[in-house]
Order: sequence, then structure tokens, then C-alpha cells
Amino acid sequence: QAKSQGKNRYVVYTSELLEDMMEEYSLEADLRKAMDHEEFVLHYQPQFNNATGELIGFEALIRWQHPTLGLLSPAKFIKLAEKNGLITQIGEWVINEACSQNKKWQDAGMEPVKIAVNLSTQQFLTRDLVKFIERVLKRTELDPQYLVVEITEYMAMEYDYSLSVLEQLKALGICISIDDFGTGYSSLNYLKDFPIDYIKIDKSFVNEIMNDHNDAVIVKAIITLAHNLNLQVIAEGVETADQLNFLKEYLCDVTQGYFFSKPLPAQEIEQKYLAWQSN
Ligand code: C2E
Ligand code: MG
Ligand code: MG
Ligand code: MG
Repeated sequence: QAKSQGKNRYVVYTSELLEDMMEEYSLEADLRKAMDHEEFVLHYQPQFNNATGELIGFEALIRWQHPTLGLLSPAKFIKLAEKNGLITQIGEWVINEACSQNKKWQDAGMEPVKIAVNLSTQQFLTRDLVKFIERVLKRTELDPQYLVVEITEYMAMEYDYSLSVLEQLKALGICISIDDFGTGYSSLNYLKDFPIDYIKIDKSFVNEIMNDHNDAVIVKAIITLAHNLNLQVIAEGVETADQLNFLKEYLCDVTQGYFFSKPLPAQEIEQKYLAWQSN
């Protein structure tokens, strides 16, 4: 940017901007090494059936154990990984790790549950996504019904392509969930065509259901819409008993949020699994 403006121009960077640029630069270099150095980890957040209290699954959420900066949340590096293309490789690692872990838990005698992984748009548009998932399922011997992919409304923008990918994924026997529902730019068209199993109500709506009438109305409407389309509804970001009771009252199917548990590393999940299951 600065160079392209020619010799005789002054470009003044604020020190903060410069710092941001340097940070992104070194973070990018580090990100390229992170895969080889096995610095990524998945944390798992439990999801419970609202009617029975039963544990139904986990969402797998990536973290980066950075050598000097500590544990980084996806907000710190997923955008960067999308920009430089590393997201495909990282995303493949996530799918592989989540399926392996789930199979391990099942082999250890834990009651089978679903594990959901987040797909980035770029990863979703990768040509061999379906083949890749098929291979992972075969190699890990995980029954496909225990894998869920979370996609966002943005993926409905490549309508025909997305429909065909989702139909192939569905044919493998895995489940499909729409993440952050209601926050994207797309129309609702895709709801009648795409083979979807779950809608996840974004936590921005759940946050204020007890205080903001509009949020409450939107959440109720999403639940009704989903049920009339024969879809199940998952509420994310549930932090209080009041929010949970509200969601139960309006027959939301599944809850995920800090009220039950933060996302935790696999070892910590194992310690709680039994207790959760006897809910
Ligand atoms: P998301 O898929 O909507 O995941 C839910 C986020 O809400 C997670 O943040 C989770 O820790 C947080 N959360 C759950 N319950 C609560 C709650 O009760 N209160 C609050 N305040 N937050 C709650 P996280 O783990 O930082 O992930 C942020 C986003 O990063 C995810 O949003 C997802 O879009 C993306 N992400 C995470 N893992 C992956 C991944 O493996 N691949 C890709 N492509 N994206 C990922
Ligand atoms: Mg998600
Ligand atoms: Mg979400
Ligand atoms: Mg969200």
C-alpha cells in the first residue's frame, strides 16, 4: 500500500496500525508452522436435550496453543487462515480430530453422541470436501450419524452448488446444521430445499431474551418456523436458568451454553461425561 503510492508521498502509520500489521505478519508466519508443530486443539461443548436432559452431543471448537501468546480463540486466527488459504488444511484437521475423538469415546464404552464441526465457507467450497469426509469416516470407522457439520447462511449464496454438496453429505448419512441462524444476508429460500437437520439460534438473540421483547419474539418465531419445517432447534449461548426455562417453555429442542458448560478439552470432558449422561 505504502509503496504503491510512490516516492514522494508520505504515509503516516499510527503506531497502533503498525503494531497490528506486525502482529498479523508474525501471527501468519506462526500459523504456517502451527499444523506441523501440532499446536491446534479442539475443545468440546456439550449440548443437551431440553425435554429429557439427556446429553446429545458436543460442538468441537478449535483453539491454537501458541508457543508464546498462550491459548488463542478462533476469533484471533480463523479470519487470517481464511485469507491465506490455510483454513482448508486446518479444517481438515478439525474433521479428522473430531471424528477420531468421537470414535475413541465410543470405543471406550461411552454412550454414542454426535460431534458437530464448523465448516468455513472456503472449506465448504473446496472441491473434494465430500470425498475427504467420506475418507475420514471410513478410516475412523465412525458411524456417519454421529457427525454433524455446521454451515452458515453464507453458504446458501452459491445456491445450486451448495445444494448439491449438502445432498452428497446427507447421502453419506451425516447431519447438517445451520449455524448463527438469522444473522446472515441470505433469504430463507434455502430452508425448503436444503437437507437440513438443525437450526442453531445465534447467541446474539438468546442473550437478551429475558430483557428484550424483540429478541424474545424472534426466538419464538425461529422455533415455530423450524418445527413447521420438521427441523430441530438448538439454542447457543445459554447462560442463565431463566433463559433455559424460556427456551423450554417455547419447546426449543436442544441447549448449548455456559449455563451447562464452557467448551472443554477432551480429558476434562471424559471426567464429566458420566455425570452428564445420567442427567
Ligand atoms: P460458533 O460456531 O457460533 O460457536 C459458538 C461460540 O460461542 C463459541 O465461541 C463458544 O465458545 C461460544 N459460546 C458457547 N456458549 C456460550 C455462552 O453461553 N456465552 C457466550 N458468551 N459464548 C458462548 P468460540 O469457541 O470462541 O468460537 C467462535 C467462532 O469461531 C465459532 O462460532 C465458529 O464460527 C468459529 N470456529 C470455532 N471453531 C472452528 C473451526 O474448527 N473451524 C471454523 N471454520 N470455525 C470455527
Ligand atoms: Mg458453530
Ligand atoms: Mg453458532
Ligand atoms: Mg454464533
